[in-house]
Amino acid sequence: MSSAPSVMLFERIDFMKKDIRRAVIAGNWKMNKTRPEAETLITDLKPLAENAGCEVVICVPFTNLETAVRLTAGTNIKVGAQNCHFAKSGAYTGEISADMLKEVGVEYVVLGHSERRQYFGETDETVNKRTKAALEAGLKPIVCVGELLWERESGITEEVISRQIKLDFAGISADELMNCIIAYEPVWAIGTGKTATADQAEEVCAFIRNVLAGLYGTDVAEKITIQYGGSMNAGNAAELLSKTNVDGGLIGGASLKAPDFATIINAATNG
Ligand code: PEP
Repeated sequence: MSSAPSVMLFERIDFMKKDIRRAVIAGNWKMNKTRPEAETLITDLKPLAENAGCEVVICVPFTNLETAVRLTAGTNIKVGAQNCHFAKSGAYTGEISADMLKEVGVEYVVLGHSERRQYFGETDETVNKRTKAALEAGLKPIVCVGELLWERESGITEEVISRQIKLDFAGISADELMNCIIAYEPVWAIGTGKTATADQAEEVCAFIRNVLAGLYGTDVAEKITIQYGGSMNAGNAAELLSKTNVDGGLIGGASLKAPDFATIINAATNG
């Protein structure tokens, strides 16, 4: 007997209305920047980002959250964290709750980043629990999905992505989904300098929108911001961001230099 098909078989919708979605450029600083370095970067970024035509977010280490919230007050730059725990409080040494982030003035939180999945045992189940906790606290989750290199080479990218979307958003309502961003980050492109081509990024972002349409309906799927992430930089951002279903970027390395990050912000503004 032949095995089940590895890709979802459904009629694909061509989502063409890029303009109705919010473009969001988010920097993921990862474990970088001391407090003085963070102050310098934010101070340099503020004037460069002030005319942005997209939402600008900086996701900084926990130790820089208060600094970032203080320095960006009254500006168009929003602050995000890079993770949160799913419990409200308790015996979870080393963890930070969503309520704690909210209290500090954080708006966004990156969840399910491939580095968390790879090095810290994060699973779709815990990503789902963290996403629910973040939403309950009033945060906007940026939920990362993406395939490994061997998964792409084996032709199972769509299977992997649709499984992640279904599990990461299980039990999350359409209204709640509207407060989420999905970041498509092929794991083989993160921090490697190896970017997905604009067509590859578009193909998977469009696929994600189709999976969302199946789960939540076309109207909802059409409105969700889907970012691309993976070695996006000042040189390749314009082409990636010009794609219909790529509504922004989650940017690691290139978000650590204000001029490079500003170039990406401008590309999203024009894209
Ligand atoms: C990331 O950390 O989410 C990321 C995309 O990193 P980089 O841009 O450095 O590949």
